[in-house]
Amino acid sequence: MTVVLGITGGIATGKSTVSEIFQSHNIPVIDADQIAREIMMPNSLALNQIKKVFGSEVFCSNGELDRQKLGQIIFYSQEKRQQLNHITGPLIRKIILSRREEYLKEKVPVLVLDIPLLYESNYLAYVDLTLVVYVPKELQLKRLMERDGITKEEAMRKITSQMPIEKKKELADIVVNNEYDKAELVRRVETIISKLLQK
Ligand code: ATP
Repeated sequence: MTVVLGITGGIATGKSTVSEIFQSHNIPVIDADQIAREIMMPNSLALNQIKKVFGSEVFCSNGELDRQKLGQIIFYSQEKRQQLNHITGPLIRKIILSRREEYLKEKVPVLVLDIPLLYESNYLAYVDLTLVVYVPKELQLKRLMERDGITKEEAMRKITSQMPIEKKKELADIVVNNEYDKAELVRRVETIISKLLQK
């Protein structure tokens, strides 16, 4: 039987880095962020709905979505962020669940769902275990500022717009503390992979 593991965490706590470690061990990963990009192809249903709600100012002259502009809008408005999630959330869910079904048919031993909004968007019914990639808030802030080249204020705003990482930690079946170096992270995740493959 397949063990479906839901990976989540806060912004820039290391979810993608952890998912890559699973992938490097030939464990399939369904990545919600990647699907979010896939559904926003030119002429897609998602883009048409985004145009209706946000207007043509969030599009470049070649018809592609201006992600930076849209990002700025939802960064400053919780209401707009919710509107966007309302458009993309159900489309992303449909693809995640159909890919999940395919992998279950293939009887893979372990399947990872990498979903930033795992707890907030009610995916618990579709996973057997949840794993939260945790770092203390100060380090989360530092890594986010460095990765995205943003100010402390911008980074704080992004972090505080999310469910607190401490709360996610409480909800998790497995917590991976990612405050050490990447080699240590690999060791920790590999220990988890070995245990999952023994189940
Ligand atoms: P997002 O929420 O934006 O999708 P994420 O949770 O997937 O982010 P990553 O992109 O994996 O996070 O990691 C965030 C940043 O922290 C990246 O620049 C990554 O290289 C760095 N990072 C991750 N783990 C470590 C570590 N153990 N030591 C140092 N840097 C790390």
